[in-house]
Amino acid sequence: MADFSLSAEQESLRDLARKFARTEMAPHAAECDRTPRFPEEIYRKAFDLGLMNLNVPVDYGGSGLGVFEACLIVEELAHACGGMTTSVIANCLALEPILLGGTPEQKDRFLKPFCAEYNLASFCLTEPSGGSDAGSLKTRARREGDHYILDGEKCFITNAPHASLYTVFATIDPALKTKGITAFVVPRSAVGLSTGKDEEKMGHRASSTSTVRFEGVSVPVADRLGEEGAGFSMAMRTLDQTRTPIGALATGIAQAALDHAAAYSLKRQSFGKPISEHQAIQIKLANMAQSVHAARLLTWHAAWTIDRGAKGTLESSIAKCFASDAALHVADEAIQTFGGYGYMKEYPVEKLLRDAKLTQIYEGANEIQRTVIARELLRQYA
Ligand SMILES: Cc1cc2nc3c(=O)[nH]c(=O)nc-3n(C[C@H](O)[C@H](O)[C@H](O)COP(=O)(O)OP(=O)(O)OC[C@H]3O[C@@H](n4cnc5c(N)ncnc54)[C@H](O)[C@@H]3O)c2cc1C
Repeated sequence: MADFSLSAEQESLRDLARKFARTEMAPHAAECDRTPRFPEEIYRKAFDLGLMNLNVPVDYGGSGLGVFEACLIVEELAHACGGMTTSVIANCLALEPILLGGTPEQKDRFLKPFCAEYNLASFCLTEPSGGSDAGSLKTRARREGDHYILDGEKCFITNAPHASLYTVFATIDPALKTKGITAFVVPRSAVGLSTGKDEEKMGHRASSTSTVRFEGVSVPVADRLGEEGAGFSMAMRTLDQTRTPIGALATGIAQAALDHAAAYSLKRQSFGKPISEHQAIQIKLANMAQSVHAARLLTWHAAWTIDRGAKGTLESSIAKCFASDAALHVADEAIQTFGGYGYMKEYPVEKLLRDAKLTQIYEGANEIQRTVIARELLRQYA
């Protein structure tokens, strides 16, 4: 029988994340959005509670959680602040290539010291010339003896200005397209590595985003992940793992929007009664609740599929795409429920719309998710 109940351990993880989100994150969400501010003290507390390196096995100092448990945590964090959540979970994205492609020696060498204390890592795939077509990336890796020399630029990289470690995708020969892409681990201290200014963003303003430049950066062959040419598949397999938590992040934003809208509708009066008694508002809330519920169940199903050992490409793309579209729509409807106040920064719902928008773009834009869904679907009919 299918079972949607949570184990005692899962419930306690969710409660821990909920308490942290509501007591440590939510009170600072509006200020960090407005300023904007990167609240490193909150990220340090998340690390101390084991809410950061969720996917790293306990042996390497992480929390050793499955995708399902990660999704429970991420939804709770995102209910308080989407931007902070993006920064808290960026390590999962950046460290996954090491988990997938690293040798036992590399995992020991990179992950143990990294996870032993608060550290941030960044996943460097997207370039100014394009993110969706990752197979055409231009950052070069030229082999010189027992080193590679990296030259190029990455953009929109989460946590880059604060990171101590970067997983970097570069090509040994652009003519080889995806077969030339190779993954490397590069420390912040590498000579020739620099980060750009913090991007001024529409949402997720508590998160930090910048370019990363590589100018003649020397990387030992020992810090290459997998073989030459294995990087593209490593990046895609990484995103297969991390896309589902973006569905959870979007679900958390959508749930927050529904919570705010429902509570407001009970208090706000029009025509002599609470607006919750107008059928138009009830229908709005009912549709929002359906979207949130469906987003959560699709996310849980994708996470469950991956935790059972399947790739889950179809399921994770469906979950991420549906939940992010739902988050944008539910946040929009929450603003409508608030009327004019919804449009004011003094109230929490306009931030939710701005934060929801990013979930349709990063970790594979939804146009690409739909391409993937159609490809996986049609394969079943061919
Ligand atoms: C705040 C933020 C944080 C990010 N963090 C990271 C990070 O940590 N690491 C990282 O590597 N990247 C990161 N990204 C980059 C993100 O993953 C890319 O922005 C995304 O993949 C889209 O790439 P692009 O912006 O170059 O858009 P483009 O690839 O230029 O696409 C533009 C538009 O065309 C559409 N499109 C492109 N190709 C097709 C196609 N074949 N069919 C249909 N439609 C298509 C896209 O869906 C999109 O709507 C981040 C982005 C943002 C905004």
